[in-house]
Amino acid sequence: MKVTEHIDKATSPLFSFEIVPPPRGKTLKAATDVVEQLLPHNPAWIDVTAHPSGAYYNEMPDGTVERKIYKKRPGTIGICGVIQNRFKIDTVTHLLTQGFTQEETEDALIELNYLGIHNVLALRGDGLNYNKKYAKDRSRNFYASDLVKQINQLKEGVYLDDINNSLPLDFTIGVAGYPEKHFEAPNMKMDIKYLKDKVDAGADYIVTQMFFNNDAYFKFVDMCREAGITCPIVPGLKVLKNVKQLTTVPRHFYVDFPDDFVNEMTENPDNAEEIGIRWAMKQTEELMAANVPSVHFYVMNDAKNVSTVVKKFF
Ligand code: FAD
Repeated sequence: MKVTEHIDKATSPLFSFEIVPPPRGKTLKAATDVVEQLLPHNPAWIDVTAHPSGAYYNEMPDGTVERKIYKKRPGTIGICGVIQNRFKIDTVTHLLTQGFTQEETEDALIELNYLGIHNVLALRGDGLNYNKKYAKDRSRNFYASDLVKQINQLKEGVYLDDINNSLPLDFTIGVAGYPEKHFEAPNMKMDIKYLKDKVDAGADYIVTQMFFNNDAYFKFVDMCREAGITCPIVPGLKVLKNVKQLTTVPRHFYVDFPDDFVNEMTENPDNAEEIGIRWAMKQTEELMAANVPSVHFYVMNDAKNVSTVVKKFF
């Protein structure tokens, strides 16, 4: 079922989850173990993240530049296929513009359609310094809105080449939104304007970056509605488990923590895990009371504390 159908048909609050593919070399079991821990919480859908390669560029003694790939985490499509077919849970495959040509994206979408995966989250991604060489006869998407347009074309049966007997592909398209602004956007107004471009290009729903202050989400939804964005806006939450994350999470995700939360965590570092769980429970309770489309948890590869939070609502 499509994410939007889950939202439209829901008779009780929905929970959705986001996991990352295990590091290269690990087995699929690392991902399926996480899914098994989430099963009791009746996941409406599970997102699987996508990752561009990462590279260092070293200047060599002879003046040339050597590219050294240090990170690669493939597997998103395969893991989605396994989760959907083994556990009968709908999956959302993340697709990135960065690091992929339009031709590769088209092939990925054909593959997803064969696998019966009809939900995708269209993202730009962050480059990790990886400048992939593109052949001259290949085309690229830059912003997520370009990717949304490409997917929408395929939904109408328009492929990059004039292929014989090409049938339309069937996808619901999600995109990312930022209650505290995307770090590159000059201001909130411009960021929401570009978000509206994604929706106008064909996105069906929005999932937000994590936030720790629900007021930021409610204000963001109001601003989106004022800008004419009418689709569902799914709030994203993360359960913090240690004090160190108070500095690492903002560094990666550009989010702000409320004073009360920071004070409680720093004054009681040994209880950080319990404080993180309690804070996420409070956020969840308030979001559910506001009838949000689903509460989406960034599980990554550790479902334990998310499970503790969600269990309270069953
Ligand atoms: P875009 O929508 O393209 O926006 C990027 C920036 O460009 C924004 O500042 C926007 O305001 C601006 N912009 C947009 N259009 C224009 C335009 N026409 N002209 C000028 N400026 C413009 N990253 C991963 O690598 N893998 C994942 O699986 C992943 N999953 C994510 C899931 C969620 C729910 C979220 C919120 C983020 C996720 N990310 C993921 C991170 C995401 O890739 C980064 O935040 C990235 O920096 C922006 O992606 P985007 O799709 O929002 O980009």
